[in-house]
Amino acid sequence: MQFPRTHLFIVIALGFGLCSFVVAKFTDDTVEDRFTAEAVLLDLPVVDDTALPPLDLDAALPPSPEEIPQARPEQNWQEIKTKVKPGDNLALIFKRNGLSPRDVHLVSTSKPLGSRLKNIFPGHEIVFYVDQAKQLMRLSYSTGPLDRLEFERNGDEFSGSQVTAEPARVLAYKHGIIDHSLFVASQRAGLSDALTMRLAQIFQWDIDFVLDIRPGDAFFVVFEELYHNDEFIGHGNILAAEFVNQGEAFRAIQYDRGDGRADYFAPNGESMRKAFLRAPVEFSRISSNFNLRRVHPLFKTIRPHRGIDYAAPTGTPIMAAGDGKVTIASRTEANGNYVVIRHGEQFVTKYLHLSKFGRGIKSGKRVEQGQIIGYVGATGWATAPHLHYEFLVNGVHKNPRTVSLPNAAPIPQKEMAFFKAHTQQYAALLDNYKSQISVALAR
Ligand SMILES: [Zn+2]
Repeated sequence: MQFPRTHLFIVIALGFGLCSFVVAKFTDDTVEDRFTAEAVLLDLPVVDDTALPPLDLDAALPPSPEEIPQARPEQNWQEIKTKVKPGDNLALIFKRNGLSPRDVHLVSTSKPLGSRLKNIFPGHEIVFYVDQAKQLMRLSYSTGPLDRLEFERNGDEFSGSQVTAEPARVLAYKHGIIDHSLFVASQRAGLSDALTMRLAQIFQWDIDFVLDIRPGDAFFVVFEELYHNDEFIGHGNILAAEFVNQGEAFRAIQYDRGDGRADYFAPNGESMRKAFLRAPVEFSRISSNFNLRRVHPLFKTIRPHRGIDYAAPTGTPIMAAGDGKVTIASRTEANGNYVVIRHGEQFVTKYLHLSKFGRGIKSGKRVEQGQIIGYVGATGWATAPHLHYEFLVNGVHKNPRTVSLPNAAPIPQKEMAFFKAHTQQYAALLDNYKSQISVALAR
């Protein structure tokens, strides 16, 4: 099966066909997988790609396969494929395949890449191309699914080159409904944990993935799968996603603002980024997502509580919720180890009961959003490891989960037409995918 390069190629049949679409029933926990057998063709919106500026998906990538000379042996060359074994070196591999020590010497001393063959790794593939006299004509050493070193004979010399192939990008779709946790739902839908983390990171300014996730929350995600020689080699970018949290839908579409760094924006051009993260701990470390109303472990009552507690294993990293300056990194009897960060004139965040501080964290230190400032612990008045987190606006405690947060810069008005042209196809893909799913569910 040949996969076309994506760009504006949209391989829907495959995307939907591969999608192991998951319906989680809350009543009995059974999972149905209704779509593995048939591929469903979506009715795609017609995209006039002549009117669109080119997508920047490939901007940072090496030349496409068409531009790379194909390593195709001459008719009378024999191809010998072999894999590096543990304890191998080039001389051993040559010997095993009946090649001459002289050729080992010539290729491994060739400048400038020959020395790279001194470090070869078990499992990597070597392909020899030899003529009828068993003379080595070409050697290809694959260092990864997309990267290889090529050595070409030229008389009594070898010239080496490094070749990087571009993977074929194929659009894929996943949908999941959460019953217990995002990770369980994602795994059922066939998303890797890494992709699930990236999905959560896209929405981490709007959704507290530790405390706000509820049964019935759902996600729809359009992303790239990367293939090389018809083999799946990994996930590419998430191009568009929607997360429905407690009935509210958040939608994000990837867009490159021209500086080569793709970022995520709502369809109206607002950045998904905000000045503060909703939760300053990584949700993946936290097991009890739905344990909301903790009774205070020491006082056994629900006390007026001016912050939020995130129960998490000792050592779970704690992130600065926003850019700012550490004003206190100290210890008291009640707070244990704690950090206070000032973010401009208006905002202050506090982090209590840490087992230890992040590297270099002390008062006066500037920190960036997402930087690790400490680790969850149970120092001070705490019986179990947790982070106590407070959020103050003009000196007044606010609920960090509901306080409205300032946005990062949106798409400027003059760029809006360009932005819409760029992103509408992905918004349409999401819409189409969602409606296909609801039609399928209704059957
Ligand atoms: Zn607390």
